[in-house]
Amino acid sequence: MLVSAKQMMKDARAGHYAIGAFNLNNLEWTKAVLQAAQEKNAPVIVQVSEGAGKYMDGFKNVADIVNNVIAYQNITVPVALHLDHGTYDGCKACIDAGFSSIMFDGSSLPFEENVAKTKELVAICEEKGMSIEAEVGAIGGEEDGVVGMGECADPDECKKIADLGITMLAAGIGNIHGVYPEGWPGLRFDVLEAIKSKVGEMPLVLHGGSGIPDEMVQQAIKLGISKINVNTECQIAFAKATRAYIEAGKDQAGKGFDPRKLLAPGSAAIVDMVKYKIDVFGSANKA
Ligand SMILES: [Zn+2]
Repeated sequence: MLVSAKQMMKDARAGHYAIGAFNLNNLEWTKAVLQAAQEKNAPVIVQVSEGAGKYMDGFKNVADIVNNVIAYQNITVPVALHLDHGTYDGCKACIDAGFSSIMFDGSSLPFEENVAKTKELVAICEEKGMSIEAEVGAIGGEEDGVVGMGECADPDECKKIADLGITMLAAGIGNIHGVYPEGWPGLRFDVLEAIKSKVGEMPLVLHGGSGIPDEMVQQAIKLGISKINVNTECQIAFAKATRAYIEAGKDQAGKGFDPRKLLAPGSAAIVDMVKYKIDVFGSANKA
């Protein structure tokens, strides 16, 4: 059964660890992420972008697949199904499709409009017992066409959004989606401290978690980051393992072309990556 991310966020913030939020792309991803979380006895957030939701033939299908894998694999750790970078309409669609959590990304809207729409969705989520993530300021890189420049959020705006009754807040601290460029100066801990001093115990979300050095991630967790999004690193691990299988000619040996064989090394690589991240984030055995 899906749960909202409310309790896991509170526990993570209080316990100084972070919940991994892993983006799903297909059935293999869903199976691998949930298996890894169960093996690590870690609460987990699985999430899709609106683009991935479309790719998986709709949010309803995503919710069904996740629920069915939870049942089939006897997953007992808390699992929240979350929309990543939702539009207002996308959020509504996911609420209807049975998600247990949403992110409304109003960071590209005029601030007052971000506040108004976030407030409206907070009320709906409150009524449904769902968790909601909001965002202030643009985060750099690209995620399904969402482009930013690695900006930092304004702590006063963070405070205003945090006070709307959201569950968790995404705020730019120099992080970037996708692969980090050469010469990236690192996370802005000064900005994170400034935000934390305004928002208190509000759990903060680190987007673009792929490729930030582990020590830097752990430092961010100490300063209030309680949810970390991971997408690119699992994709790269999957592609690398699949490439190795094909380059070794295994798809041309026997029935090596069978997708259950062809996709197995990539799936195993996702399991390993998710387990590794859970250890870095400190959420193992917190279920
Ligand atoms: Zn993001």
